[in-house]
Amino acid sequence: MHNNPRTNASWRVLIIGSGFAGIGLAMQLRRRGEDDFLLLEKAGEVGGTWRDNGYPGAACDVPSHLYSFSFEPKHDWTRKFAPQAEIHAYILQCVEKYRLRPHIRCHSEVKSARFNEGRGIWQVELRGGELIEAQALVSACGQLNRPAYPALPGLQRFRGDAFHSARWRHDLDLSGKRVAVIGTGASAIQFVPQIQPKVAQLCLFQRSAAYVLAKPDRAYRAWEIALKQRWTLLQRVDRLLQYLHHEVRALAFIHFPWLMKLFRRSFVRHLQQQMPDEGKRAQLQPDYPMGCKRILISNDYFPALAQSNVEIVDSPIREVREQALVTADGREHPCDVLIYATGFTATEFLAPMQIFGLHGKSLQQAWQAGAEAYKGISVSGFPNLFLLYGPNTNLGHSSILYMLESQYAYVLGCLRALREQQLRYLDLRPEVQSRYNLRIQQTVQRSIWDQGCHSWYKTADGRHTNNWPGFTFSYRYMTRQPELADYDCVR
Ligand SMILES: Cc1cc2nc3c(=O)[nH]c(=O)nc-3n(C[C@H](O)[C@H](O)[C@H](O)COP(=O)(O)OP(=O)(O)OC[C@H]3O[C@@H](n4cnc5c(N)ncnc54)[C@H](O)[C@@H]3O)c2cc1C
Repeated sequence: MHNNPRTNASWRVLIIGSGFAGIGLAMQLRRRGEDDFLLLEKAGEVGGTWRDNGYPGAACDVPSHLYSFSFEPKHDWTRKFAPQAEIHAYILQCVEKYRLRPHIRCHSEVKSARFNEGRGIWQVELRGGELIEAQALVSACGQLNRPAYPALPGLQRFRGDAFHSARWRHDLDLSGKRVAVIGTGASAIQFVPQIQPKVAQLCLFQRSAAYVLAKPDRAYRAWEIALKQRWTLLQRVDRLLQYLHHEVRALAFIHFPWLMKLFRRSFVRHLQQQMPDEGKRAQLQPDYPMGCKRILISNDYFPALAQSNVEIVDSPIREVREQALVTADGREHPCDVLIYATGFTATEFLAPMQIFGLHGKSLQQAWQAGAEAYKGISVSGFPNLFLLYGPNTNLGHSSILYMLESQYAYVLGCLRALREQQLRYLDLRPEVQSRYNLRIQQTVQRSIWDQGCHSWYKTADGRHTNNWPGFTFSYRYMTRQPELADYDCVR
């Protein structure tokens, strides 16, 4: 790499990505009076998930008072589950309030990074060849950042418009069109009810049905917002109650998967109430245990599917033609527009960046069998590299922002140790990482996520690389500060 360096700059901390993870860490650095950091973002604006997923109906599915930073509460969320634009605006407000703009460089994609052992610095190369150096490198590039596209035979032949839900074509009017939606995950259940009334025909291609429960959503009343603004303690109490309400669900996901059978009754009731058509109801029965894939919440998904202009197609797609999809049962489904609601390449952490640690070892090589990190943050052989929302830190039951805040404490602890003890670098001991990950994999195998389904939580080989198999408070306890004995501390 580094054949043609154009400029050279040096920072104490370099953060890759400006979603919640990167912006939150930058806010924490600011709060500590730290100025020596730079945030690189490949897109033209900050926001990550909440910049990219502007499809109709996009919203969080964890209540907003819990899905926002505890150290930067927003008292005036308009709804219990805020829409995408409001969440993105919150991120932008954080950037302004903490005066982060001078620390952010957009249109700056990190292509590779190489650790220089002698100097104890990361040399980072951007697309375009520019070089930047930093003592600590923080990856905050998310688990759900790169859209996944299905490999369908004949796709290049399709003549209509085709796009991914995370790259929504707002310029395209879907009115009166025959639309094919591939996928029935968290994004599809949000946008399908929004587009169904407009389109002439909607074919929903479903590989496996989702468990969908009622969404306890509503707008906050003006007096509720006023009360929270006046007595901020009320907002904190609300957040705590929501936290506890979500946290008990970990019991069913991780420790007692049989408890899911109780929740299943709510799903059956919800489906029965909302879907009068018996044929469609049968198609909407999942064929795997509840919780194995992400449980979804919506009040308008089943009612939308019940409409006569919607067909649920559960035969696999065999081929794409110029103006149609053909399924394995030989039927041809004409369509003008194709929407991929096929999720993200979630198990390919940090891809396609090339990261080289000690002795030139590549992260790709180290992660051949699947990504793993100690506490989701440190990887042995890659000193002074810290991951946010890294391997095994995703949740099925609560807010990712809670996990991020735990990670901030740990990473800031490492940065402090580097400075105060004048270390060149901190390198995790390999045996600490393997012991930790053995335990993670053993625990996850007892969880609901290993009870017979394919999901984005696992690699093709079935290794669980994404989810945290535990309570979020035990993760918080575990990450409250780094244990320096876990690391080789090199002066
Ligand atoms: C539609 C949707 C809804 C969701 N809803 C919820 C929810 O309700 N609750 C919840 O807890 N979680 C939810 N999530 C998960 C969500 O991704 C996380 O909560 C959180 O937003 C992740 O933030 P992040 O900063 O780690 O990653 P991201 O938001 O993905 O941000 C990563 C950033 O890194 C940038 N980047 C990546 N690679 C590079 C590179 N090489 N160089 C420079 N920049 C780079 C990207 O452009 C992006 O801006 C949802 C995800 C999706 C997709």
